[in-house]
Parts: sequence; C-alpha cells; structure tokens
Amino acid sequence: MDHPTDHTGPGGLPRSDVGMKCSRCRGPARHRLPSHNARFCDHCLEVFFKRQVEKAIKQFDMLQFGQRVLVAVSGGKDSLALWQVLTEMGYPAEGVHVALELGDGKFGEASLASSQEMAQRLGAPLHVFNMAKLAGFSVQEIAWANKRSFCSVCGTLKRYHLNKLALDLDCDVIATGHHLDDEAARLLGNLVRRHTQYLESQWPTLPGVPGAFAKKIKPLCRLRGAEVKSYAKAHGLPVARGECPRSKGATLPYYTEAVRMLEERMPGTGLNFYMGYLEQKDGPPAAPKDFNQCPSCGMPTFAETCTVCRFLERTKEREERKARAAETSGQL
Ligand code: AMP
Ligand code: ZN
Repeated sequence: MDHPTDHTGPGGLPRSDVGMKCSRCRGPARHRLPSHNARFCDHCLEVFFKRQVEKAIKQFDMLQFGQRVLVAVSGGKDSLALWQVLTEMGYPAEGVHVALELGDGKFGEASLASSQEMAQRLGAPLHVFNMAKLAGFSVQEIAWANKRSFCSVCGTLKRYHLNKLALDLDCDVIATGHHLDDEAARLLGNLVRRHTQYLESQWPTLPGVPGAFAKKIKPLCRLRGAEVKSYAKAHGLPVARGECPRSKGATLPYYTEAVRMLEERMPGTGLNFYMGYLEQKDGPPAAPKDFNQCPSCGMPTFAETCTVCRFLERTKEREERKARAAETSGQL
C-alpha cells in the first residue's frame, strides 16, 4: 500500500518519474532536464554534460588542449563537477582551494576535506592556501577595519589570491564552477541595478595579460545548477554539505530565486536570457590595459596601490590604534 507522504519510488526517483524513458537511448531515465525538454539515464547525462562543456569551451575560446588549467575548488558540487569533467576531457587540471575561517569551523573544514578527497579520487594535485595566513589578518578584522561586509572582503581577497597563485604556479587559466543559474542571476541583478561597469565584464571568458592577470573561464556556463547537481550525484562526488554561514544578507540569492521561478514556469528562459544577452554584445571584454603595478605587492592595479594592500594598511593602522589604546589604559 502506498504511504500517503512517501513521494519516492524505486531507485530514489520521485514517484511521478518512475518508468520515464531516456530521451536518447530509451532506457530507464534517472534525470529530468526540463530546460531541454529531456530525460536522461546516467550515461546519456554524461554525454549531454560533456557536450555542453565542450560547446562552451569552443564558443567562448576558453581552453586549448595541453594548456595548464587551475580549477578553483570550493568543495561544493559545482567546482567538483567542473574538476571531474575537465579531467575526463583530457585537460591537465590542478585544484586550488582557499581555506577560510568563517567563524563556524564546520563548513570550512568540510569544504577542505571534500576538496582533498576529490584530489585523491582524480589523482590530481590540490594546492591549499589559508586565507588568514596569506593576508596576515582574519577576513573579519579586515572587514571591520575597512567598514566592508564580510562577503565583499572575502570575495576581493579570494579573487586577488587566486590570480596571484595562478601566476606564481605558471598556470595559463583559472576555471571556476559558476553555472548558468549563477550567471543569469548576476546578469539580472546587474541589469536591474544598472551596474554598467559589471555588465561590461559579464562574459564567460575574461582574457588574461601575461604576468599580470590569469585568463578566467566558466566552462559550466551553459548548464543549470540542477543539471550540475545531477552530474555530481551520478558520479557520487564527495560534495561538502552545508552552506557558507556568512552568506546571509547577500542580494544575489533573490535574483537566483527569480531566475529559478521563471525557469519553473517557462523552461529554457535562463539559457535564452543569458545567451541572448551575450549574443547582442560585441564579444568578450578587451584585455585589461593601462594598469599600474602596486608598489607594495607588485600585483596589477587600476589605482596607485591595489585594493588588497589598502585593505591591509587600514587594518594594520586599526590594530596599532587598538594596541596604543590598550597601552594607555594600562598606564592609567
Ligand atoms: P561561490 O561564489 O561561492 O558560488 O563560488 C563560485 C566559484 O568560485 C566556485 O564554483 C569555485 O570555483 C570558486 N570558489 C569559491 N570559493 C572558493 C574557495 N574557498 N577556494 C577556491 N575556489 C573557490
Ligand atoms: Zn598590492
């Protein structure tokens, strides 16, 4: 007898999906892809997934065979799936994980453990860096001293260090796990807020400049989050559970929710919206030029001193003020 609250059928499928056939091979299907009006078995999902990644790589001139690529691995499903698929496609992909202290040890630890387990599965190198050690201060201290949100400081430091590490490791390209839902949500947010400067750099490949900026690519940009999740599940990838305890208060999730709602009512909207926007642009943004070299760290900057060094200077000043105040109150 059916249990009234049990919606799961054999093989963990929703009851409504039991008996559905793969759109390619007509065998039993496990994955539903409404945006493509398709259902796939594990094997055909794999074929579909690789084709989409290959298409993105070609369409946006992301990678050439033999190029060394550094995958930014957070331990979440997106970057693990990306690392898996690039490796299977024959790109020599190394991982880099930036370990963060987020005030809640568990998420940071789980993210690192997942990244390490994935490296072991693939037999690929994983470079691990501790953000606080790299910066000399904790993200929270830098955020307080610069009156910025934790997320914005964390994002700036991550981008800066990933770029620096890619240059230090002599890697040509950095790949991140951003997928179609991320990019469509970011595009919607930038259009709503008319952030023209961010709109200009909205492209899945950002060209590099030797010795200054690594090329940045998003090979999952044609795939929906749910499709990446299906791929990660089909491969049994060691995905870290939970979410960043510091991400509350960010506005991007509202745009992500809006895109998801549109997709639910009108499958395929996200891909049309994002790819349609890119098609009517002139092409990728030009490689950065007219930048200076930061006198403190040597990294490229469009100001005199780079944002990260300014962050650190202000944090140092604040810590010194605090130390002087503590000394004075001790003398009283
Ligand atoms: P998020 O903004 O957290 O959704 O992350 C987007 C992408 O940035 C991920 O798919 C990873 O490729 C990369 N990334 C995020 N956090 C880290 C991290 N701690 N270390 C290395 N790469 C990361
Ligand atoms: Zn600097």
